[in-house]
Amino acid sequence: MVSTRRTTKAPSSSSRPSSPSPPPASPRGRKRTPSASTILRSRTKKNGEEEDIPISTKETKNHQKHGYEFGGPIGAICITILLPLTCYFLVFACNETTGCDLIESIIGLAKEKKKNSFSLLMIPEKMTPVFSLESCVLFLGWIGWCVMLHALLPASIVKEGVDITSGESGGEKARFRLRYKLNGFRVFMTTAVACAVGTYFGQIQLRSLHAKFLSLLTAGCAFAFALTTFLYVASFRVNKNDKSKKKKKTRKNDGIDNGPVVLANGGNTGNVAYDWFIGRELNPRFSNSLFDAKVFCELTPGLIGWLLLNFGFMHEQYARLGFITKPMVLVNAFQLMYVVDALWNEPAILTTMDVTTDGFGFMLVFGDLVWVPFTYSLQCRYILENNVDISLAMTAFIVIVQATGYYVFRQSNGQKNTFRTNPNDPSVRHLKSLKTKRGTNLLISGWWGVARHVNYFGDWLMAWAWCLPCGFDHIAPYFYVVYFGVLLVHRDLRDGEQCELKYGNDWKRYCEIVRFRIIPYVY
Ligand code: NDP
Repeated sequence: MVSTRRTTKAPSSSSRPSSPSPPPASPRGRKRTPSASTILRSRTKKNGEEEDIPISTKETKNHQKHGYEFGGPIGAICITILLPLTCYFLVFACNETTGCDLIESIIGLAKEKKKNSFSLLMIPEKMTPVFSLESCVLFLGWIGWCVMLHALLPASIVKEGVDITSGESGGEKARFRLRYKLNGFRVFMTTAVACAVGTYFGQIQLRSLHAKFLSLLTAGCAFAFALTTFLYVASFRVNKNDKSKKKKKTRKNDGIDNGPVVLANGGNTGNVAYDWFIGRELNPRFSNSLFDAKVFCELTPGLIGWLLLNFGFMHEQYARLGFITKPMVLVNAFQLMYVVDALWNEPAILTTMDVTTDGFGFMLVFGDLVWVPFTYSLQCRYILENNVDISLAMTAFIVIVQATGYYVFRQSNGQKNTFRTNPNDPSVRHLKSLKTKRGTNLLISGWWGVARHVNYFGDWLMAWAWCLPCGFDHIAPYFYVVYFGVLLVHRDLRDGEQCELKYGNDWKRYCEIVRFRIIPYVY
């Protein structure tokens, strides 16, 4: 992201660990009420000016077909309750005080039968209290630190995102592009240097994050609920402000035009619980600046926070044992590589479903700020608390799995990115593609010819490489690989539906040519 080469590229079509959608509750439910207003698209006139033109009736019908996801309002409520509970469950069910037998006991795989499995569910002694003001301040301080660095550090790129067709915005529909300040990699580097210096001089004790883990989780959950509610309530400001105005609302300052304030198609159903969960507003921006709350949360505090927790567990292991074990090194190195890759390729976020389609509601707020750091760090915590070690042969095998996964992940994401941004690039010019009525062609050879989401396969292989260092004594550390598999299958279905709406019959033709969804010759 800091290289000049990158600054010349348009945003890629994604190659980052975007915040996770929760596991699917169920497929679509009933249809939501479509808005009656006309949908517009912009077209460049001969004189170079942009004009708005209506989208065809067919496309409008497709647009209206979009219905509830995640099981509708009931699903949204259930997921909202289940997500935080799962985060706590993973701590209560697998910790130093009780061990990690609970899940095996529940599914009947425990080596020893315990009379009451739930006696294994306990608040770990080394992680009390569950709530502390100190951790709330720490959590808020962390968010504040990230916001401050994001605001102060220069951005190597202030890019335009992709075209965003809005939902209702004060009764109007609009199609526009936003500009973004992207400096997540610099925030990461500055934080890394600050932590290294602070640790060297004894001012920062990353190992204390282990003892504070539960109370930080509580602080994170409270923050996610509060922020989501704020975002939901704030999303109504648009309609209120626009009532008396005939013109589209735009926010301008120092030449920055953030475009109209718009609502997400999927999160604007009128059902409070569902909209609160999916997110009513598409790209919340609260000042005349380039600070975009969603893109910021997607990449900065959650991902870097995840690494800090991992490093905290490694530090704690060093303090306890006097050395760091191979599994701890492996998981820390792999996950560091994953996050650095995401931050280095930061523009990739701009073309993802999360940014262009989903509103900024509980699903993304919780996913970004709580789910990612507190559940993705489970393997490092498990390795610390269970003194796991593995053989050199196993280490070599895991490195091969990670390298293969990363290769598939990076190459496939990179190939699509290059194809989308510069189809004449020598690396993709030879690839076959399917012409579509929509205008953006679909690759049918290369990585995207072997499976429709082979990039997910690479990502999932990496998920295995993060879990295998935990050994085979317990199922709990394999939570990530199972959850992530479910997420990717569901995401592939969601993306398939979106692509069918976008491409119509051309997508069906593409699916006939590229038959496999994620894993070539398997699925
Ligand atoms: P993808 O990168 O898979 O992009 C999907 C889009 O690519 C489609 O909507 C379509 O958009 C375009 N496309 C589809 N097929 C083709 C084709 N044949 N040729 C050209 N373009 C095509 O989207 P995601 O955001 O789901 O995933 C990005 C990365 O993030 C993945 O590697 C995934 O594994 C990872 N991820 C990680 C998560 C985590 O928690 N760790 C969570 C979610 C994702 P269009 O045609 O409009 O350009």
